Amino acid sequence: MQHFPIFMNLAGRRVVVSGGGECAVAKLRLILKTEAHVTVFSAEPESQVITWAAEGRLTLVHRALGPGDALCAALFYAANDEDAEDQRVAALARADGALVNIVDNLGDSQFITPAIVDRDPVTVAIGTEGAAPVLARAIKRDLEERLPARLGLLARIGKAFRHAAEALPFGEKRRDFWADYYFDAGPRALEDGEEAVEPALRSLLDTHLNRDAREGFVEFVGAGPGDPDLLTLKARKALDRAEVVIHDRLVTKEVLELARREAVLVDAGKEGFGKSMSQEEINRLIVEHAGAGHHVVRLKSGDPTVFGRLDEEIEACDAANVTWSIVPGITAASAAVAGIGQSLTKRERNSSVRVLTGHDMKGFAEQDWRSLAGPGEVAAIYMGKRSARFVQGRLLMHGADPATPVTVVENASRPDQRTLATTLAELEPTLTGAGLSGPAIILFGLAPRRAAEVAQDIQREIAL
Ligand code: SAH
Repeated sequence: MQHFPIFMNLAGRRVVVSGGGECAVAKLRLILKTEAHVTVFSAEPESQVITWAAEGRLTLVHRALGPGDALCAALFYAANDEDAEDQRVAALARADGALVNIVDNLGDSQFITPAIVDRDPVTVAIGTEGAAPVLARAIKRDLEERLPARLGLLARIGKAFRHAAEALPFGEKRRDFWADYYFDAGPRALEDGEEAVEPALRSLLDTHLNRDAREGFVEFVGAGPGDPDLLTLKARKALDRAEVVIHDRLVTKEVLELARREAVLVDAGKEGFGKSMSQEEINRLIVEHAGAGHHVVRLKSGDPTVFGRLDEEIEACDAANVTWSIVPGITAASAAVAGIGQSLTKRERNSSVRVLTGHDMKGFAEQDWRSLAGPGEVAAIYMGKRSARFVQGRLLMHGADPATPVTVVENASRPDQRTLATTLAELEPTLTGAGLSGPAIILFGLAPRRAAEVAQDIQREIAL
């Protein structure tokens, strides 16, 4: 980040603009939203500038800017639409000690003006460091549509009520109150007119003051396979509101970034110095945080109900009388088949699909290999990297066709997704040879739709 976004108090400060043409007018429209004292230097100002001057909204000086004209200015804009003149006045303003912006000249500017969504006092500033103005405009348009036009009004009324709201203890209780106001009680009251908002705030405060101590609860949330776009809306909402997020090792940082800024993040899958947390420790942690009245999100990769040791955690909650619920997620198998353009089930090929693990707590996991070895069978094998040789051996031993397609998908849905297209006969040593380091799932009985190309890609990568 080269430019650090801040909100500057311009009330009563001096802002100087050199230029009175179209580009100055565009900037002035923004600056005049503030309470700054604005002075414009221009020998030939547009009529709009003259009107603003006549209305007393700015001071107009009918000449070009000279030395000392930008003294005491907090900000200075060179907006002459003419490079040489902009450079000249920028040098003068810098000498006068002002922070200088040359319109449409990022390199020579000391600050830049973001795209702004104005719901005063709520202001959203969008910047792309000059890299993608189109993107900034698109985001602005999106936000303009999304943020109710009357949000500013709610915020202004809310601001006047801040003092009264201090009757609620700082922290969660007060946050809950404000969330209720902005997203529920406030907008509803506004429908009956502006005068209805303040009484609504008073009765809302009463309700919150009388509320019993809040009980904590746990949401077991599926974080999906890694791509944050594959989170459900419900998962997004849970992350938005969570006070404590206890997550697995496989949950990506892109997903964790969506957790509320104030949330406490606990990495339950920490590797490195120590080994990962034991299941008992995780259970204890979940129950402890919920017991302290917190909203706990237990974030598990993929879907929490698939090889997630969910039941043990639920039992711990039940034993401690902690309320819980489950938010499903996209499991690795779904992401992996999507990645290779295949279906998990297909008419006349397989009417059932097996979700199995090659490795469980006791070691290699036995399955009904005989039925899986039949023609057209499909299985998604989780945690299969370590047990690939065992699975391969068992299936061949039970008569599976050595030419059965097998596809390994590593880092499904992530930017570094890799696909290894092979056959049962060649699964090992191909898999070991590929040296995969990310989470990988083995799709038995499925080949990628574009098998040849993908296989070539991988071969090339292995060769490198
Ligand atoms: N609950 C998870 C599975 C947890 S078990 C889910 O529903 O996806 C962990 C195993 O899931 C890994 O060993 C790997 O086999 C698989 N896995 C998880 N994320 C993956 C990803 N992005 N790509 C491929 N496999 C993944």
